[in-house]
Formats: sequence, structure tokens, C-alpha cells
Amino acid sequence: MTDDSVSGDPDALAEQVREGELRLHELDDRASAATAAEARRRLLEAETDADLDAVGDYALDAERAADASIENMVGAAQIPMGVAGPVEVAGGAADGEYYLPLATTEGALVASVNRGLSVITGTGGADARVTKSGMTRAPVFRVSGVAEAEEVVSWVGDHADDLREAAESTTSHGELLEVSPYVVGDSVFLRFVYDTKDAMGMNMATIATREAAELVEDETPASLVALSGNLCTDKKPAAINAVEGRGRSVTADVEVPRETVEERLHTTPEAIEEANTRKNLVGSAKAGSLGFNAHAANVVAAAFLATGQDAAQVVEGSNAITTIEAREDCLYASVSLASLEVGTVGGGTKLSTQSEALDVLGLRGGGDPAGSNADALAEIIAVGALAGELSLLAALASRHLSSAHEDLGR
Ligand code: NAP
Repeated sequence: MTDDSVSGDPDALAEQVREGELRLHELDDRASAATAAEARRRLLEAETDADLDAVGDYALDAERAADASIENMVGAAQIPMGVAGPVEVAGGAADGEYYLPLATTEGALVASVNRGLSVITGTGGADARVTKSGMTRAPVFRVSGVAEAEEVVSWVGDHADDLREAAESTTSHGELLEVSPYVVGDSVFLRFVYDTKDAMGMNMATIATREAAELVEDETPASLVALSGNLCTDKKPAAINAVEGRGRSVTADVEVPRETVEERLHTTPEAIEEANTRKNLVGSAKAGSLGFNAHAANVVAAAFLATGQDAAQVVEGSNAITTIEAREDCLYASVSLASLEVGTVGGGTKLSTQSEALDVLGLRGGGDPAGSNADALAEIIAVGALAGELSLLAALASRHLSSAHEDLGR
């Protein structure tokens, strides 16, 4: 039996859970999110040997977090946040000097990115561009065989406007860009691609696709099996994202004068080029890797954690190719991230520390025009990844990597 008089008392609420009168998730119906989290901590502390004082010492707005970001909240896992920069970015959307917030527990990472950004800024900054943008959802439908599959594919080709109308009826920001069909025997996959503006867009695209999928079911013999058929592809390594892109496809590049490479990175353009070719290109090819880069995922992960992106999408964020060319007077370096899924509205971006990090970049919330803040975030992260590539490749080329980790990471 539950009792309203215990709704403010975490110990009494924890006791009710222990007695089987309340389930863990029902605590949110009986008390504020902060009190419910405290009750869960008391329960865990009583039932395990854990002391959860640090987990309970958080600055997040518990109501906001419990509303959209977490269930059965007990507190917060805190990750140190550092900053690298400033760096000058000449982007399609980003323009100016930026500090990049990075949350990580890997010692030496921020220092390494900072070194790369400082070299980039010393050259006048990096260029960056989002060259393609589109969040995808690919439902899978059952048909009786190839004849019906072709019927569905033809109908989809002839009814792009109807599909767009259905999908866009669910969102005031999202736009359906294209629908690509794929047939495998009696399965039909429709890969929907959306411009989701400043949202990363996974919820938006899923809700819009559900509406469009209903229309496909109404008008064709296709029967929906799963709203996500894994050809999207979300949170799994997949060549389709590396080739077609997902979220933002973004490239950053820089030319570093030869003297700067020698003075600041203690090596030569030729040595960095060779390290990149043999490691990032040949080594990655031999390994069958989708990521032809040194550690783009490090910067992507740290920037994602700092700014409230979906951490699991670092999988797609690691689909990056680094190119290095020793030119006559300089070193040319680029990094192209095929599928960087970022937003400045929605999801974890609303949480307090994450939105403060977006404030550091001047990118909290929707951009003007819509989509420009998320484009700018993608460009700045790409420049951060470029800095990380330059710094690590230079450390490898000059054989300083293990000493840097020894000094900074342990
Ligand atoms: P969301 O928080 O669900 O929605 C963001 C909403 O913000 C948009 O739908 C849009 O509303 C509104 N909005 C306001 N200003 C906007 C602007 N300038 N640009 C774009 N939208 C604007 O976020 P989401 O990005 O769609 O989804 C991200 C969340 O999905 C994350 O929490 C992530 O962890 C989660 N996720 C979900 C799935 C899934 O399958 N559902 C998969 C992976 C991750 P209108 O649409 O009404 O215009």
C-alpha cells in the first residue's frame, strides 16, 4: 500500500520499494524527480555496499533529466570537462574564434587537441564545410516476393509528394529529402532521409517515418515489420553511413607552413605524411576498418559528452578519413567525417551543463537560419578532430607519443 504522507521522505519511499509496494520507476509518480532519485540511492546503498554521495551530488535539473533523458534516475555520472582552443574556423556556418569544450577521462587528450588547435590558429585557422546533411530512418516491409517488391518500389517512386506530405505532417521543422528503396528477396527497405535542421533528428525522423510507413501500408501490399530495418544505420558500424553519409558529412582542412611543422610539431611534413599513409590508410585498409583516421572518435566522443549529443552515435562519428600531403612549402591536412550526428536542440542538449557548453560555442538552441547552429557545431568538431589528427600523427612521427601519455595521463 502506498501512502501520500511518505512522498517527501526518501527513506520511507525506499522502504516501500523494498517491501514490494512500489516499483523503482513508480517513485517518479510519488515524489519529485530529485526525491525519487534520492530514494533509489538509499535503496541501492542499503542493498549493496555502494556509497552514492558523489552520484547524488549533481547540478542537473532532475525534473528535466527525468522528463526526457533518463529513467530510474539515481543521480549523475560526472565526467571532467576541459576546453581546447581558441581556434579560428572559417566555415559555411561557423565563423570566428571558438573554444571547444571536451568531456573525457583520457588524460592527454585535451592537451593533444589543444596543441593541434594552437598550430591551426597559428596558420590563420582551418576551413570547414558541411557538404551533405540528412538524418535517416529505414523501415523494413514484408512482401510476398519480388513482384510485389517491385510494385512497392514503383509506388514509392511515383508518390514522393504524398510521402513527403505524410512525413512532414508530424514536424514543423523537418523536411523529407528523399526515399531510397532497397530490395532483398521478400523484404523491402525504404531509407528515408530528412533535413532535421538544428536537431540531431533521430526522434523527429522516426516519428515522421512512422506516418509515411502507414501510407505505404495503406497503398501497397507491403506490411511493416520494423520501423527501423537497420539500413538507417543507427549506432552500428555500417559502410552505408561511411559512403552515403548520415547526419552531417563535414570536412575540415588546413595548410601548415613547413617551418611551423618543424618548430611546433618537431617533425617534418614528409614524416607526418608517411605516418598517415602507412597507419591511417594502409593499416586501416589491411584491418578492414571503416575509419581511416588516427583517433577522430576521441574528439567526437569528448565533444558529444560535453554538448549533450547521443554518445552511442560516436560509432558513426568515427567514420572519418584523414589525408595528409607534404606540399612544397607546407603540410596539407584534412579530415572528412562522413556521418557526424549532432544537434543544438532536443535530446541531451537541454541539460544544464551541456547547454552551458553549447553557450561556450555560442550555439545553444536553434540557429538563424534553422540548421545553421548544428552545421556550425559539426564544423567546429571537425576542426577539433583535425587538430587531434595533426597532433597525434606528429607525436607518432616524432616518436613522442608514449612520453606524452606518461607525463599527462598517468
Ligand atoms: P527531440 O528532442 O526529440 O526533438 C527535437 C524537436 O525540437 C524537433 O522535433 C523540433 O520540433 C523542435 N525544434 C525546435 N527548434 C528546432 C530547430 N531549430 N531545428 C530542428 N528542430 C527544432 O530531438 P531529436 O533530435 O529528434 O532526437 C534526438 C533524441 O533522439 C536524443 O535524445 C537521442 O538520444 C534520441 N534517439 C532516438 C532514437 C529513436 O529511434 N527514436 C534513436 C536514437 C536516438 P518539430 O519536429 O515539432 O518541428
